[in-house]
Amino acid sequence: MSLDFALLARDGRARLGRIETAHGPVATPAFMPVGTAATVKAMTADAVRATGAEMVLANTYHLMLRPGAERIERLGGLHRFMDWPGPILTDSGGFQVMSLAKLRTITEAGVTFQSHVDGSTHELSPERAMDIQRQLDADVTMVLDECTPFPADEATAADSMRRSMRWAARCKEAFARRPDRGASINARGDSPARRPGYGLFGIVQGGVYENLRRESAEALKTIGFDGYAVGGLAVGEGQETTFRVLDFTLLLLSEDRPRYLMGVGKPADLVGAVARGIDLFDCVLPTRSGRTEQAFTRFGQLTLSNARHRDDPRPLDERCACPACRKHSRAYLNHLINAKEMLGAMLLTWHNLHYYQDLMREMRTAIGEKRFGDFADQFAADQACGDISPL
Ligand SMILES: [Zn+2]
Repeated sequence: MSLDFALLARDGRARLGRIETAHGPVATPAFMPVGTAATVKAMTADAVRATGAEMVLANTYHLMLRPGAERIERLGGLHRFMDWPGPILTDSGGFQVMSLAKLRTITEAGVTFQSHVDGSTHELSPERAMDIQRQLDADVTMVLDECTPFPADEATAADSMRRSMRWAARCKEAFARRPDRGASINARGDSPARRPGYGLFGIVQGGVYENLRRESAEALKTIGFDGYAVGGLAVGEGQETTFRVLDFTLLLLSEDRPRYLMGVGKPADLVGAVARGIDLFDCVLPTRSGRTEQAFTRFGQLTLSNARHRDDPRPLDERCACPACRKHSRAYLNHLINAKEMLGAMLLTWHNLHYYQDLMREMRTAIGEKRFGDFADQFAADQACGDISPL
């Protein structure tokens, strides 16, 4: 029932690998575009595929409220519903319950909350989170954890982490017991145990405290998961602290399982985290920035609404093969944004996702050719350069 992970090459601590899921392979290190509500905002599924993305992320909290996990299951699962036949990872909804829902009550059993959509009352327990992600037919299911506030003192971070570890054990039990969707739809008659590709990831918590991260990693390894995520980072602690926590946390995790850094990040964060041994990322940054006039390029981040682009016939990035760069000028993008045309947000989102996928592909190639250090140096030099000079 579990998914496979092959570690193909290593360069320093950076890893080249491949995750095999029920809906196809994912070359790692990989970046997953965020499809919160069963859509990567402003993109068709075909467009997302054209950027090179192999796996997308969808959100348990949003989908359980609207349109409902039962409805998606009746309609054939999330892959069919959103036209994404490839691998899908669903997050458990814990983070969104903390950040979006009203009137939350957290007990050992789980969390009760009011929907931010219509005020209706819902419960999310470790068992319910596993059931919803089964109904969605997620290839990678995430455990439900309690989102530790930042900053948190050591006692608060410890209490929160230990509750998350108790919930992780309940998630594993519920995941192991769940009826295997593959068993009912597999015409070859394979037994559930022989149908690979569905996995459950644990999430290491413990804030910025090394002893707590160690306790959390040990607890998760004892329970046993198909992959391990590092949670509770990129919440305002700063890049230096993120990297420091990764430096000691990744040493605690099994080499033979994928490692996922949740909610990260900027291009420089991705390069730094891959250098430390992370295999999988997701972040709203490339899509959200595309809707707020921001583009990521080799030479850093730029604002397309800026007047300097108004008469510029050059592409956003002459080396980029996305439609925004191949077919359009900076002047046209600037015009679309200033005229508040929705195509502006669509093209910038497409470019940003394409840039992120190019970056991941370049990192995978560099690791395979044992020149990741040189790649990272060149990346930093290019980013420091800044945008091309105005005409
Ligand atoms: Zn482009």
